[in-house]
Amino acid sequence: MSNYNELISRVKELSVIESIGGLLAWDQETFMPPKGAQLRSESLAYLSKTAHSALINPEMGSLLDSLENDNLTDIESANIREIRRSYDKATKLPTSLVEEMARHKSHALQIWQKARAENDFTQFAPALEKNLDLACQAAEHYGYEENIYDAMLDIYEQGMTVSQLDLLFAGLRKEIVPLVKAIGESTSKPDLTFLKSTSFSEEGQRDFSLRVAKAIGFDFEGGRMDTSTHPFCSGAGPDDVRFTTRYDESFPFGCLYGVMHETGHGLYEQGLSREHEGTPLGKAVSLGVHESQSRLWENVVGRSREFWNHWLSDFCEVFPDVGDLDLDTIHCAVNNVEPSLIRVEADEATYNLHIMIRYEVEKALVNGNVKVNDLPQFWNSQMENYLGITPPDDAQGVLQDIHWSMGAFGYFPTYTLGNLYASQLWEATLRDIPDLPSLISRGETQPLLDWMRTNIHIHGSRWEPDDLILQATGEKPSSDAFIRYLKQKFQHLYNLS
Ligand SMILES: [Zn+2]
Repeated sequence: MSNYNELISRVKELSVIESIGGLLAWDQETFMPPKGAQLRSESLAYLSKTAHSALINPEMGSLLDSLENDNLTDIESANIREIRRSYDKATKLPTSLVEEMARHKSHALQIWQKARAENDFTQFAPALEKNLDLACQAAEHYGYEENIYDAMLDIYEQGMTVSQLDLLFAGLRKEIVPLVKAIGESTSKPDLTFLKSTSFSEEGQRDFSLRVAKAIGFDFEGGRMDTSTHPFCSGAGPDDVRFTTRYDESFPFGCLYGVMHETGHGLYEQGLSREHEGTPLGKAVSLGVHESQSRLWENVVGRSREFWNHWLSDFCEVFPDVGDLDLDTIHCAVNNVEPSLIRVEADEATYNLHIMIRYEVEKALVNGNVKVNDLPQFWNSQMENYLGITPPDDAQGVLQDIHWSMGAFGYFPTYTLGNLYASQLWEATLRDIPDLPSLISRGETQPLLDWMRTNIHIHGSRWEPDDLILQATGEKPSSDAFIRYLKQKFQHLYNLS
């Protein structure tokens, strides 16, 4: 067997372990009986240990070394680049640090849950301090050129740096803050009375959102939808994609847009290359690009007037109590903009401000510009700066997200990158298919999915994220398209001049 084939067969074995882990983790959140928790965490820990030791096997390193000097095809060198990336990430950390991080992570998670429930940041502060210290130690081992935070960003979006993000976020902030302010001052407000006077049965929500997920192209022969506390999309591979949702009978759009979001993730997974399955070329490239697919279907498509032009009659058929709801009312209602405390409930216009706050907080923390103990005040002042509101307590403020309890510093910016990429991809699609909006208003979304299949999904990790966006859209990642999208949409909806 050639060195390349030897390496690929090892990587495919790792991918099999990963897919078993994917199913076990999915089951843990959906159907596992409570008493199964202990054994499940042992099973998952065993799998991740097995995968880790196979990955850090020195023979992997020798194979990579020898192949990097070979004459390789584009496909082969892309696979080698990504395998090298994983190998380096796995081998650069001393085993003692990996163990300490794993041990502390589950401990910190429990402390955070209690601190949030009791609205007491001081309980969480020492655990956060420790997580921060471990993340900084890891970043030093990974290495970076300019800013220690670069090494953390790179874990979730390869190649992303503070200098790039500072630029993207400054441009966004300059435009979004005044836009949100103008929306707040506008006298045009969505009419939400139909929401208050109706109950939306779980059964109806399931029926309607399944219709939508099927219609936009999710293949239920190669995937399924279930219920869980926190919606997610995972699974075993491109032909077994599983996503979840949750129901609130007083508000149907949480479920609908949650389903469209997770369906977007699922469509990406289902569109990956079968030829390269189990290798980086057959895997999604980054969190940011993944999020671009979910945000595209959830927001750009799902909250458009064209979407509702097609789906309003189905919605009224499933929920007859809403009466004769008109297109304007529902279109405005699903685009209600309001500065709010909680990121996961934020609308399209304010969402990225929540991310920018977290970005500023993380950057300040890892560079030692703010102390953990001063975080609640720092958080609240950022909320005031960006959104003009101050949280009444830390549970609805600095303690709201799970990420820092898991030591995931550098993760948040991928959410905004997803929004930016989604708008860039949407503009590029419109250049190729100018009548796309009228197709969507007739329920014909296949051309949009085909475009994503050809330009994003099938390439897997062939290029790094910013190169993939460049290949697909002709432009490097930028906030321009997103700003154009937001302004056009909300100036119209809120009658702004
Ligand atoms: Zn997502």
